[in-house]
Amino acid sequence: MIVIKVGGGSGIDYGAFCRDVARQKDFVLVHGGSTLLNEVSERLGHPPRFVTSVSGHESRFTDRRTLEMFNMVYAGRMNKSIVEILQRLGVNALGLTGLDGRLLEGEQKGSLKIVEDGKKKVLRGDHSGIIRKVNTRLLNLLLDNGYVPVLTPPAISTEGVAINVDGDRLAGRVAVALQADVLLLLSNVPGLLRDVDDEDSLIERVSRDRIVEYTDSVAKGRMKKKLLGAQEALDGGVRRVIIGDARGSAPVTEALAGKGTLID
Ligand code: ADP
Repeated sequence: MIVIKVGGGSGIDYGAFCRDVARQKDFVLVHGGSTLLNEVSERLGHPPRFVTSVSGHESRFTDRRTLEMFNMVYAGRMNKSIVEILQRLGVNALGLTGLDGRLLEGEQKGSLKIVEDGKKKVLRGDHSGIIRKVNTRLLNLLLDNGYVPVLTPPAISTEGVAINVDGDRLAGRVAVALQADVLLLLSNVPGLLRDVDDEDSLIERVSRDRIVEYTDSVAKGRMKKKLLGAQEALDGGVRRVIIGDARGSAPVTEALAGKGTLID
């Protein structure tokens, strides 16, 4: 079993990506949609607001209106386009968010402790959270009957409220639930880079006991979340994680062949 997560960054050709995905046998696909959500929220007059938590992680402040646009983009446009492409390729894809059948249940944060202009602040009304439980039975029900799950945030809180959760950590949790052999976190960079601005500075291997060190030093912004997702997957029994490139004509095949950053 492979869990493949494709990001929502610019420069990804989802047609080419899905053609390569369709060559795999047993897999679950997880996707993001951040670039398109930024565009749509600008167009709808409610621009994105990114905040940095006191622990140094960057995230999207998700008020109710953002959550509605989030559903439009992730559960609607992105999820259904990917399902459509895969169906055209003969893959029996079935798209779900974490809300559906309580597939991904978690905890809503409610308020965010952030640092802005050097000052600590508390932001209320945030619809983001952390996944605590995966409905493995539902996933297996689909897999056992020949469907390929195509998953995307939001998740659902215990109280039944939609929560924005990180896609890389979501993929990590699903990989653990299915005891996947490998988790691929593919986005619009070749992998973990020593220097974000230099695509030739790829770090080819990170051993699991050094993830924290890399999270604190080379990984910036969203890359920190990928390392966290990798850590959670490995801690949960997944054997290896590859952070690789989703661009190009055979991104999944190449990542499985070792291209990217191998974390084990
Ligand atoms: P997703 O595809 O999941 O939406 P993101 O675009 O959020 O992925 O995360 C990947 C981004 O992380 C890259 O585009 C890059 O700008 C940023 N990044 C920060 N630090 C690093 C690093 N050390 N190596 C590679 N990318 C990094």
